Parts: sequence; C-alpha cells; structure tokens
Amino acid sequence: MYHEQYMQKAVKEALLNIRENRGGPFAAVVVKDGKIIAVGTNEVTTANDPTAHAEVQAIRKACQKLGTFQLTDCVLYTSCEPCPMCLGAIYWARFKEVYYCFTRDEAAHIGFDDAFIYNELPLVPHARTIPAKHFTLDLSSDENPFMQWQNKHDKIKY
Ligand SMILES: [Zn+2]
Repeated sequence: MYHEQYMQKAVKEALLNIRENRGGPFAAVVVKDGKIIAVGTNEVTTANDPTAHAEVQAIRKACQKLGTFQLTDCVLYTSCEPCPMCLGAIYWARFKEVYYCFTRDEAAHIGFDDAFIYNELPLVPHARTIPAKHFTLDLSSDENPFMQWQNKHDKIKY
C-alpha cells in the first residue's frame, strides 16, 4: 500500500515536470522510515545539466537534507527504470531498495534510449564510442594523490 503511494507521488511529479516545462517525464522520491525525504525531477534542459536526472536530483536533495553522503536506510521510488548513470549513483548512495514504474524499454519507445550506454559497459575503455585512453604520469609519492590518500590519517572513509 505504501509502495503504491510513493510510486504515485513519483509519477505525479513526473507529469507535473513536463506540464511545467522543467524537463523530461521523470521523477524520483527518496523515502526513509516511511517519510518522503526528497523529490527530484529531471531538469536536464532547464538547468543545462546533463546529469540532472530525477534520481540524481533526489539523491542530492536527500543527502543535503539528512546531512549525509549515504542513504543506507532509504528506499528510492523512481518513475522509470534508472539509466546507467543513475544506477551508479544509486549504488554509491547505498540505497536499501529501489522501485521503478516504467521500464527501460518503455522509455526507449518514447525516445529515451539508454541501451547504447549499457552496451558500452562491457567494452574495454579504448574500444568505446567515446574512447577512454590510459595516460600515466611519472609521479613522486608526494605528487601522487592515491599514495597521499592511503597515508592520510584523518580521512573520512566512504
Ligand atoms: Zn539517469
């Protein structure tokens, strides 16, 4: 019953988002202990931000509100199955569970096809459509951020 209520909210927000010309037909809701913590909607075209997907927006707002960088005890309700970027963000945020309404295939059918990114994932970096090329530098340990991080005593682990 609660699941339906939160999903209804996500879908209604997605509808409102396109009626108010704020972006694509997507919205996401972060819930913790049965309470809605944050709502995010797609604002790619109005914020001029290709990463302003509903899930990312909702994660940013929820983290800000809760004063944390992890949403371990939270559940995400998203109007559509997450794209690879949002899926990554969901894992980094460490959600407990995710519910989605519309599927990737349904999104592809109305022009939001993220299959090309899913297809890129198993390829070696330099063979991808946007090639990623390994470029190393000769660094001393003082210049090496990885070595500095490893030896740092007051770091906040995440
Ligand atoms: Zn996304």
